[in-house]
Amino acid sequence: MAGRALAHSEALAVLQAPDDELLAVLDAAFRVRRQHFGRKVNLHVIRNARSGGCSEDCAFCSQSAVSSAPIEQYPLQSADELVAGARAAADVGAVKYCIVTSGRRPSAQVLAVVCAAARRIVPELPIRLCVSLGALSAEQARELKAAGVARYNHNLETAQRFFPQICSTHTWEERVATVRCARAAGLEACCGGILGLGETLDDRVDLALALRELQVEAIPVNLFNPRPGTPLAGRGKMLPMESLKALAMFRLVNPTAELRAAGGREACLGQLQPLALFAVNSIFTQGYLTTPGQGPSRDLAMLAEAGFEVGQIEG
Ligand code: SF4
Repeated sequence: MAGRALAHSEALAVLQAPDDELLAVLDAAFRVRRQHFGRKVNLHVIRNARSGGCSEDCAFCSQSAVSSAPIEQYPLQSADELVAGARAAADVGAVKYCIVTSGRRPSAQVLAVVCAAARRIVPELPIRLCVSLGALSAEQARELKAAGVARYNHNLETAQRFFPQICSTHTWEERVATVRCARAAGLEACCGGILGLGETLDDRVDLALALRELQVEAIPVNLFNPRPGTPLAGRGKMLPMESLKALAMFRLVNPTAELRAAGGREACLGQLQPLALFAVNSIFTQGYLTTPGQGPSRDLAMLAEAGFEVGQIEG
């Protein structure tokens, strides 16, 4: 509460807390959450602007080169389609619209279409724009900034130590470099990961600490929900109580970051889903990249019943 940074051992103790202490852990996270964000929950809408066919081999991902998951695959959507998606997102009360493309890095064509969409969305619609296009050069980051993009998403996915076990086609350090590149261009950084890939509790703490060191503005925490046809299809999903302790830990390590319960929220938290709101201040509504969510009407009902308010654009 006083702004002192949590040490690794303290963060680890949160993850190791017995289930009987879950409410105490969530209470600690909620005090910090309330101090910085009150009871507001920012709604985000994610748009898969190009699905599947990625060259990379991230073991959890149904869009990867090594996945045979039965997902819908399609080429880059048009600027018109992306603008229509932003309008629909604004209509459900989202504060951010995130355009995502599969792939290692954006081609000139991808960048041109996304920038064209941005130049229409930003002045016309009451919504902020985030994009996630893979690894970026400094020049590409500046182009996105000039087109009006507010934030760039590029997840570290997991701890530096564990990363080589989930991806061999690029490195954790390359991911960090892209986050730094986006920030250097004046973009906010949205950067998180996915929990439950086989990493240790120490790895989870290391990821949270790495994000603190990078001073990222937003942290999406995905909860692993195995996808058929991927190398990790046989792993179990994250369990509700371990998920909640992890979200509380991320909040306590990163008190002022916009913390988001991202993919896997409904599947992994189950009946305990509303408890996540006591740690996080942001959710995706309208589903995820390749899986559906419970949808805006159930999300809004959940927020209202748990006593939370929908966040508005500030400034
Ligand atoms: S997580 Fe991203 S980079 Fe990795 S395989 Fe999936 S789409 Fe490609």
